[in-house]
Amino acid sequence: MDNLVASNNTDKHMIPAIGIDLGGTKILAGLVSNSKLVSKPIRIPTPKGPENIIKALLDLINSLQQERIVFGVGIATAGIVNPETGEILGATGNLPGWEGTALKHIIQDKTALRTHVENDANAAAYGEVHAAGLGYKTCVMMVTLGTGIGGGVILNGKLYRGAHFAGGEIGHLRISMNNERHCTCGLWDCWEAFGSGRGLVATVRNLLVGVSEEQTRLAGLGDKLNVEEIIKAAAEGDILAKRAIFQYHEHVAVGMSSLCHVLDPDSFVLAGGMSKFVDLNLLKELLADRTLPRIAERLEIHPSILGENAGLVGAGQLVLDEAREVKSVGVAG
Ligand SMILES: [Zn+2]
Repeated sequence: MDNLVASNNTDKHMIPAIGIDLGGTKILAGLVSNSKLVSKPIRIPTPKGPENIIKALLDLINSLQQERIVFGVGIATAGIVNPETGEILGATGNLPGWEGTALKHIIQDKTALRTHVENDANAAAYGEVHAAGLGYKTCVMMVTLGTGIGGGVILNGKLYRGAHFAGGEIGHLRISMNNERHCTCGLWDCWEAFGSGRGLVATVRNLLVGVSEEQTRLAGLGDKLNVEEIIKAAAEGDILAKRAIFQYHEHVAVGMSSLCHVLDPDSFVLAGGMSKFVDLNLLKELLADRTLPRIAERLEIHPSILGENAGLVGAGQLVLDEAREVKSVGVAG
């Protein structure tokens, strides 16, 4: 019965893992146990170039190992990742030269620690779902509304990564046929061209065509138009800003509705900087208008619990859970 004991998530005395979230501008690191951060998170700016990044990761691992004995290290990174080999398959503009890095092997060789590498959005979804105790659900989707839109799919507590490790790239769902907005990925009318912070600004710019400064002060902002200004104007009663924010909710609901009809999720976890501007009741209403009642009536939407630490918590928890899984099917780990 050792395996049952080992897979008991409530064990508070488990050895923690190091969780690291490597982003384009910052690296966050900390110790993780039971889908929680159990140390103060460390934050450093992301150095330039793969060699310097790897050196920074090794320094972080070294300093966290001074604090506690650790079980292993989980790294969430931007880009497409093969989590079996721990290799970066597709780079991201935020981490130039990162593609092709055999990250798992490098870290494992230098530290002798069990290492798991995961795409950052997937790791964040895994962290959030397990931190919220939703691992027993059939399907939970995380939707991160930020500068773009990211996400992850958790089926029966496990990550769904897709056939090419690009599952959950939900920001690139197409939500219009009109070639209205170009997405940063090169395609037209992706969800994130509408439902992200950038999307909200683009919506306001569209509404501002032919509108004067006397009608809304947003018309006079030019290049200074941004999400904060739009939210502030709406709070002051600006009609155009309020209309744009309503449209923003419609845009978010359209994408979520499409996801509902593919996956019939139990719940969504909403995260990211834009999620704090979302009126959950309005979103639920708009979603119900666009979704089969059988799905919409039972659907839950939860706000994020872990915030910016979701990626590092998920990465750390993945290395812990992955090892337990290997043990529970009787393969030498
Ligand atoms: Zn796109």
